[in-house]
Amino acid sequence: MTKVGILGGTFNPPHIGHLVSAAEASEQLGLDRVLLMPVFLPPHKEAHADPGPQARLELCELAVAGDPRLEVSSLEVDRGGPSYTVDTLRAIHAAHPEDDLTFIVGGDMAQSLPTWREPEGVLRLATLAVAEREGVEREDVRERLAGLAGAERVVFFDMPRLDVSSSLLRRRVSEGRSIRHLVPDAVAERIAQRGWYRRGEP
Ligand code: ATP
Repeated sequence: MTKVGILGGTFNPPHIGHLVSAAEASEQLGLDRVLLMPVFLPPHKEAHADPGPQARLELCELAVAGDPRLEVSSLEVDRGGPSYTVDTLRAIHAAHPEDDLTFIVGGDMAQSLPTWREPEGVLRLATLAVAEREGVEREDVRERLAGLAGAERVVFFDMPRLDVSSSLLRRRVSEGRSIRHLVPDAVAERIAQRGWYRRGEP
């Protein structure tokens, strides 16, 4: 049985918070590999200054290059439309029923699980693995999810708190400030070459 982690997100752009979370989940939960899964369209938030799904996919590929624990999946980008996690987990499960799936989220996203499409379906198809983020503690997450069937299977993992977000990076690029060391060099270079995020977000 292969243990597959999935880190879903907009990745607009991918940054060290995503990579450290994926790598720590991989090590602490014994995952064989972790897939970064960029959305085609985020169902729960607007993608600001979005260079497009292909561009975000390309940035994810650059971000994971050289780390054998991490891969990128184009499943949601290829499917198009709003990217619902439950649909994605069903598709992976149908293609590889023998795999054991873990869906990785930051605490902020974990708290919003009750508003996702079929949250109990998500908890049935995958183990939810949560990293604390932005002051969202384990107890906050446990309380918020307590009413859902399968909530007792949620697991937590530790990571150094990194107060980095894609919004911060977009803002810095639009202000002409450096994003070096907050994203892998290849990601910073591609963003600069293409002029992505320079015009800022609404
Ligand atoms: P934005 O600032 O545009 O809202 P973001 O930085 O939260 O974006 P997403 O692509 O939406 O990035 O995040 C994908 C997943 O990674 C989510 O589950 C989110 O909680 C998690 N994540 C993002 N940044 C961090 C971080 N610094 N530490 C831990 N988890 C993170």
